[in-house]
Amino acid sequence: IILKLLWSQKMPGFELIGKEEIDEINHLFNESSILFRHSFDHLRNGIFKVNDFENAFSKRMNIPHSLGVTSGTAALRVALAALELEPDDEVITQSFTFVATVEAIIESRAVPVITNIDKTLNMDPDDLVKKITKKTKAIIVVHMLGVPCRLREIKKITDDNGILLIEDTAWGCGGFYEKKPLGTYGDIGTYSFDFAKTITTGEGGMVVFKEKSLYEKAAAWHDHGHENNPKLPRWEDSRSGSGFNYRMNEMQGAVGLAQLKKLDYVVERQRENGEIIKNILARYPIELRDVPDMSYETYDALVFFVSDNNVAIKCRKNLIDNGIGTKILPEAITWHFAGTWTHMPELGNGLEKKFLKSKQLLDRSVSIPISVNMADNFDKSIKSALDKVFL
Ligand SMILES: *Cc1c(COP(=O)(O)O)cnc(C)c1O
Repeated sequence: IILKLLWSQKMPGFELIGKEEIDEINHLFNESSILFRHSFDHLRNGIFKVNDFENAFSKRMNIPHSLGVTSGTAALRVALAALELEPDDEVITQSFTFVATVEAIIESRAVPVITNIDKTLNMDPDDLVKKITKKTKAIIVVHMLGVPCRLREIKKITDDNGILLIEDTAWGCGGFYEKKPLGTYGDIGTYSFDFAKTITTGEGGMVVFKEKSLYEKAAAWHDHGHENNPKLPRWEDSRSGSGFNYRMNEMQGAVGLAQLKKLDYVVERQRENGEIIKNILARYPIELRDVPDMSYETYDALVFFVSDNNVAIKCRKNLIDNGIGTKILPEAITWHFAGTWTHMPELGNGLEKKFLKSKQLLDRSVSIPISVNMADNFDKSIKSALDKVFL
């Protein structure tokens, strides 16, 4: 059962690592062997894998600027660095997300402000309006488990208030909203290529920008302030401020180039599998998660609401017994729901009571994990697991 479960939990990008990634790595080692993204021009035979990955990503996402970084968490931190925040500036995000989104705000010395979610399980635009103050500098929305947030309504709110919109697209890479690639609807988009995401470089991330000036600030900050001035050698490079080191390396860039070519295939297969599961769910007295109009989901998982937490736990138990399992909901809530993050003093006291609307929704949610290669007969397994709960 455990082996079966691990198989069913296998993630897409990881499932498809194969010859294409190995060929890219071999090309890097055979033709260059320089593993650093900058310099060593006389030794690298014109090979710049991170740069190529960034350009290919920009092309796929139809956005002018992409910056490879070391993780999705780093991507959020680097995105916020471009805003040059002051210590009591506020950044708003949603109660249902991975801890990383809030950690990046705290690391940026800004004040994290958290909204409730609605039935999309993403940011509730009505609550967002209530949480905006004069100090709000940016909003980070999250497309949790591959469903776009209410981008149209939220972008109107950020535009009306002159606030920057950042999309944490860790789960949404390859999805669209109103025909725009997720991550490119707002001002800045961030992506994760960790081992559990749609495409992977082992660890890694990307930040995309519409505006050149934001890209340039972020690029310098992620590289100790280096402006990579073409007129100067790197050791004499110009700088306008300090920064940090979140540089992606050439091995990650090489793997990323191969994985990016598989992105559309991954999403298409997940969508097919998701539709099969959706048809099964039509038999039961459940309610599907809301999906905003004009969404093209990545179907990372399919979430439905049941009547209460007891029923959700029962679904989980039966899905595990049948080798399917669940993803985050209802079990891994402590890593993904801000109402439980009492280990972060930055979020203030009384957290448990702050996001009751979110908690009520999450408590009765069940999430079925979707991958490219689902377990054999996964449709029958899901059906028999849920028949036992509902019929
Ligand atoms: C995975 C994830 C991240 C962080 O990405 P890493 O590459 O693991 O650092 C950030 N935000 C969300 C919503 C995530 O799911």
